[in-house]
Amino acid sequence: MKIAFIGLGNMGGGMAANLAKAGHDVRAFDLSEAALAHARDAGCTGFSSAREAVEGVEAVVSMLPNGAIVDKVYTDEVIGHAPAGALLIDCSTIDIATARKMIDAAQASGYEMVDAPVSGGIAAANGGTLTFMVGGTDSAFGRAEKVLDPMAKAVIRAGDAGAGQVAKMCNNMLLACHMIGTCEALKLAERNGLAMDKFHEISSKSTGYCWSLNDYTPAPSVGAASPADNGYAGGFAVALMLKDLRLAMDAAERSGAKVDLGSKAAEIYEAANAAGLGGKDFGAIFETL
Ligand code: NAD
Repeated sequence: MKIAFIGLGNMGGGMAANLAKAGHDVRAFDLSEAALAHARDAGCTGFSSAREAVEGVEAVVSMLPNGAIVDKVYTDEVIGHAPAGALLIDCSTIDIATARKMIDAAQASGYEMVDAPVSGGIAAANGGTLTFMVGGTDSAFGRAEKVLDPMAKAVIRAGDAGAGQVAKMCNNMLLACHMIGTCEALKLAERNGLAMDKFHEISSKSTGYCWSLNDYTPAPSVGAASPADNGYAGGFAVALMLKDLRLAMDAAERSGAKVDLGSKAAEIYEAANAAGLGGKDFGAIFETL
């Protein structure tokens, strides 16, 4: 398939490479020359604008920083420029309102479009093992599944337009809560004379088990390997978790949902970011305790 890929950063770079590896003709665009050069090395063809990249394609995939940029790129460069009938797939994590607005605008111009944010991070983007949470019609989902497959461990239809963003936001609010809880429990155990690795051994086989404790233990040299073992370098940055929590808090306020723990988690990640931990892995909350 001829596929345009817009946004070749930490995530998009690996994703576009996996589409090319699967034999697709990938037409890539990014504002960054370095990102474009990387994509060319990975078998994509580079273009000097999104508008050029979407010429003649059957599908457009984007992986961009935020809703304002997604709105601008789709409004100015994609809708009305990609061929009629092309499938549009935005994989960025953005607010629900912008996701729905883009899908409405695309449909009004005769395109099918889905929101398809991901879980998995940079390693999964490079390894082709992302989980995609997709919002859109049945027909658009059926087409999107085939495009997303070389980048995916799982492609799940969450529901109609915007439902992928709802799933992503709720998943990451839950993740923030159990990450903070895991950090606090490990520290509390240690302060009370129980070695953290013994607590990990017990709780990971008890009702305290969760992904943060079992698979991504946030204390150095305890339990499962994670960026904690490497000074919290790499992984999923505090600043990105904070971005997702802000989206969740905004949605909670708009919908009147009660999210006491989520809102405390957002406060904790705001403080960690303000303290200069924005670039460290989100397990670095452990360091602040
Ligand atoms: P990034 O900053 O590394 O990449 C974004 C890329 O978009 C950059 O290369 C930038 O030059 C490009 N870009 C910006 N404006 C553009 C424009 N107008 N036209 C073309 N290219 C443009 O960010 P990332 O870590 O790859 O994240 C991308 C998206 O994926 C975000 O929405 C993020 O929330 C989400 N996400 C990230 C992770 C992660 O672990 N990094 C995990 C899940 C989801």
